[in-house]
Amino acid sequence: MSTSKVTPMSETADKPPSECSGEGAGRLSLVNLMHLAPRCGAKTRAHVPCQAPAIRGKRRCRMHGGKSPGAPRGSKNGNYRHGLFTLELAEARKRLRAIRAMIDDRS
Ligand SMILES: [Zn+2]
Repeated sequence: MSTSKVTPMSETADKPPSECSGEGAGRLSLVNLMHLAPRCGAKTRAHVPCQAPAIRGKRRCRMHGGKSPGAPRGSKNGNYRHGLFTLELAEARKRLRAIRAMIDDRS
């Protein structure tokens, strides 16, 4: 569908609800809402964003990893070495830095 077909629907949104009643108007507003859905930003082979509707709560479409929960965390990941860079340890380091900053402020 071209964008020129979308513009008349924005005019219907400005009209009072009495003029928008009826099955056809409801369907039009639903289509309008669907077009407002967040779009997938994955870069395609043509070097432009994919633009397909993104999976709910995600930033990618069903074809670009939107359905995937991501790589396994921690030792379940095949690239795991020693755990120094796990999210838990990074969080612990962050807390330690904050405590150290508090101590430095007091002295
Ligand atoms: Zn996509």
